[in-house]
Amino acid sequence: MNDAPAPIEPADIDRLADLLRACGPAVVLTGAGISTESGIPDFRSPGGLYESIDPMEYLSVPAFQRRPGRFWKMFAQVFAPVAACLPNGGHLALARMEAAGVVRAVVTQNIDGLHHRAGSNRVIELHGHLGTARCTSCTARVGLSEALGQLDAPGIEVPVCERCGAWMRPDVVLFGDMLETFQDAVAECARAELMLVVGSSLEVSPANSLVGRTCRLAIVNRDATALDGYADLLARGSAGRILAALAERLGCWETSP
Ligand code: NAD
Repeated sequence: MNDAPAPIEPADIDRLADLLRACGPAVVLTGAGISTESGIPDFRSPGGLYESIDPMEYLSVPAFQRRPGRFWKMFAQVFAPVAACLPNGGHLALARMEAAGVVRAVVTQNIDGLHHRAGSNRVIELHGHLGTARCTSCTARVGLSEALGQLDAPGIEVPVCERCGAWMRPDVVLFGDMLETFQDAVAECARAELMLVVGSSLEVSPANSLVGRTCRLAIVNRDATALDGYADLLARGSAGRILAALAERLGCWETSP
């Protein structure tokens, strides 16, 4: 299913552009697939994170509470390299489309921070971000790199709060946590007529329950998703290439001379 990149049909880009012109500004829901072209593996594709770790086993609140040292070791291995990754054409296209008034907000399941780094202003991070770590007891927060830096000291397996000594944890949403930004996302959907989903299998709840809160739905994804049947428009292929072509078609981004 993933062997050859699907050709991008110019007609798909035309139809997407028409839908955005007619029903925008759109709320955009992004998933791990928008960041694979930045070198960050998604969860469910071949080679994705699900092949090497069981997220329930490693990325849940009970897993953190039971074995915080093992949690931080895995977290550092898997997520510290993300800091070196850069936004790709898909992130940049969405930022330009927001600036042009075609996109109203990006709701993302990603924790990589690449929408912000690309220049998007209205970004709702459903699952938190890799920017900071917070104390599990008091209100202290530090940069994630500072917390990870503590692990370089001999014998330190869990970063601790410099104010009260309790364990620190990353500012990402673990299985078992509340989604504090979910209602903001619901409110954005209520204001939009169109949702554009990009790079998500739409298997993760409750993010996938945002689908259906707008009248119209378009999905840009490399593979079939769980909710394709509800879409007014499907565009299969590379998120980076499709969004760049779309932004160009809408006059938001001059990519060719
Ligand atoms: P997922 O792994 O379930 O699905 C990703 C989808 O993206 C797949 O359907 C795949 O076909 C598609 N895809 C992959 N590369 C693509 C590309 N270049 N162009 C277009 N489509 C592409 O991801 P999900 O639905 O976001 O759910 C996974 C969960 O994992 C989320 O909760 C997310 O927080 C987390 N996650 C985040 C990151 C990140 O921050 N970059 C990375 C991995 C996982």
